[in-house]
Amino acid sequence: MRIAIIGTGYVGLVSGVCLSEFGHQVVCIDKIADKIDRLKAGEVPIYEPGLDDLIARNVAAGRLSFTTDLAGPVAEADAVFIAVGTPSRKSDGHADLRYVFAAAAEVARAVQGFTVVVTKSTVPVGTGDEIERIIHEANPHADVAVVSNPEFLREGAAIEDFMKPDRVVIGMNDDRARQIMADIYKPLDAEKHPVVFTARRTSELIKYAANSFLALKLAYINEIADLCEHVGANIQDVSLGMGLDTRIGRKFLNAGPGYGGSCFPKDTLALVKTAQDHSAPIRLIETIVGINETRKRAMARKIELAVGGDLRGKTIGILGLTFKPDTDDIRESPALSIVQALLDKGARLKAYDPEGMPAFSETMPDLDYKSGIGEVADGVDALVIITEWSHFRDLDFADLAKRMKRPVLVDLRNIYDRKAVAAAGFEYHSVGRAD
Ligand code: NAD
Repeated sequence: MRIAIIGTGYVGLVSGVCLSEFGHQVVCIDKIADKIDRLKAGEVPIYEPGLDDLIARNVAAGRLSFTTDLAGPVAEADAVFIAVGTPSRKSDGHADLRYVFAAAAEVARAVQGFTVVVTKSTVPVGTGDEIERIIHEANPHADVAVVSNPEFLREGAAIEDFMKPDRVVIGMNDDRARQIMADIYKPLDAEKHPVVFTARRTSELIKYAANSFLALKLAYINEIADLCEHVGANIQDVSLGMGLDTRIGRKFLNAGPGYGGSCFPKDTLALVKTAQDHSAPIRLIETIVGINETRKRAMARKIELAVGGDLRGKTIGILGLTFKPDTDDIRESPALSIVQALLDKGARLKAYDPEGMPAFSETMPDLDYKSGIGEVADGVDALVIITEWSHFRDLDFADLAKRMKRPVLVDLRNIYDRKAVAAAGFEYHSVGRAD
């Protein structure tokens, strides 16, 4: 199959590379020339484990290329994937579809022969209908079928998720498109990685329903963690005791500073808006959106209490800025809200993250960024773990205690054993572990 991917970001690049690994002929397109130039030069513009090797292999095999030219590859493609961003619209929280619609109009002008236009971006119910309308308005002769194929990959494990997905969801109302989509995903073992064929609107909704459910689990366990602190219980044992029930499952039951990232915050908000627009409000998700926002800033209060109730004149060392480990993505990271709240309360901050500092410093240029854990620890009143990078799972407490003004550790990811940290002479604060 000849495939064009529009948008070479976290999803478009991983999808394109993995589809070429399936054996398809793939061209990844982006309008940012610098990104394409770097890819052509063998550089990978995002941090995603394993991606560099996979790109090199498929480029060398002649199956994968990069360009800023949309028209050429789209004209030759059997399928065009739209994988551009759909951020929250600032005015009302709805998914901002302007990049998707602009890409659709460009596709309309370039397509030749029957072409499947696949929406990989996360888009609200009914977007496929609008894409179809835009294409036919821009080019009444275009012979296209518009398909929804939402992406469920997780940054940091994106290749594994794409190559071995729990499921592939494909929504369409056209038999020719069904055949092409089936051929694209044919290399997957259907027994292990089932493909769910459904109607386009249903497919669009599956993505939001799935993400909002995972966000719901996180918001729920975070509230149970708060209760643990008040009643003298341990959230990790609660999570284990709950999660071993196969009806519940253990994933997404780790209490922490609130969910972030480029998906959950915007997708929960977009589902809320879609549901309200259709007079079928989903109160449950409306509630967790609020809970999560409040929670991120509330973590600053936890840090404040850990240093005696006043942050003025105190220096805090921050470990971890990305919304989760193994990515350089800081979009909606809890660190953004926590850092801002700490600054508002008068703290001085030092920070280190293995991959997230370039992006974080664009938003917050005035933090004191350091190149390692030790430098962050020098002279601080407390260290705070916000992201659970593996680097932070093995801290040298003896060295840190010598460097820090006071040996206080606030572990917002519960990665340490409370007794072991206390034995190293540290005052330890974590989430939902009062016992
Ligand atoms: P991103 O911002 O990393 O990448 C989008 C890219 O599209 C950018 O490089 C941008 O320059 C490019 N682009 C925009 N308009 C273009 C055009 N007309 N022509 C060519 N290039 C264009 O976004 P992302 O994180 O990859 O997310 C893309 C979509 O996938 C979103 O809808 C998101 O919700 C969804 N999604 C993301 C993830 C994730 O983990 N990041 C997971 C599942 C789904």
